[in-house]
Amino acid sequence: MSHLIDCHSHINEFDITEIQNILNRSLQSEVSKIIIAGTTLEISKQCAYMTKTFDQLFCGIGIHPMDIESPVTEKTVSELAEITNSNKKVIVVSEIGLDFMDGMPDREWQYNAFRLQIRMAKTLKLPIIFHSREADNETLRILREEQAFEVGGAMHYFQGDESLAKKVIDMGFFISLARPLTRLEKLQKVVSTISLDHLLLESDSAPQPFKSKRENWTEPRHVKDIAIKISELHNVDYDEVKATTYNNILELIPQLKT
Ligand SMILES: [Zn+2]
Repeated sequence: MSHLIDCHSHINEFDITEIQNILNRSLQSEVSKIIIAGTTLEISKQCAYMTKTFDQLFCGIGIHPMDIESPVTEKTVSELAEITNSNKKVIVVSEIGLDFMDGMPDREWQYNAFRLQIRMAKTLKLPIIFHSREADNETLRILREEQAFEVGGAMHYFQGDESLAKKVIDMGFFISLARPLTRLEKLQKVVSTISLDHLLLESDSAPQPFKSKRENWTEPRHVKDIAIKISELHNVDYDEVKATTYNNILELIPQLKT
């Protein structure tokens, strides 16, 4: 039977006392499994640890481009890789990528961290869930140069146009959609042209204290709203979206089948 899977979340950032309730709510919305993303070495270790406590959780290891505070070294990357040794629930390299918004870390540091972590993903044979903000051409160039298609993965929080979607798919990656799809008409038009076979779902959920009502904070349960929106855009049953995106993620990460 198929379920919804949230391929990218930061619910590890919520208070630990909230996690079980968030997971219960996600189950009620048919979101059976959630992949949390590492953003630093320490947080990657914490995420891996959390997967041992909570059945529904799987995780990625990685250093987020926004969180690079000094040049990432080979030693740091090998410590990241070691996290996978004793933990079968570490199933992707995430969150890695490039972020060229103003005020972000030094770009040379970002390029270096991205390349080293793509090489790590290839050594570990783990797919990559990547971040790209104001850096799409460069992100794709690095993925191409490092032959990241060997492991594949997904462009997370996709908000690009049709031509970007095509480039990402041609390179062998999935397009992962988050909650903006439910409100952005331009994105809805783009997604209506992408075959369901290339889509994954995510919440990218993290605490949102700037939203005054707690019930409005994005959680993995909202993945269901994204699936419903896709079914409307493609004029197919919700069950078909659920089944296809489930098959897509199992193709990428067969370990999620258990
Ligand atoms: Zn993220």
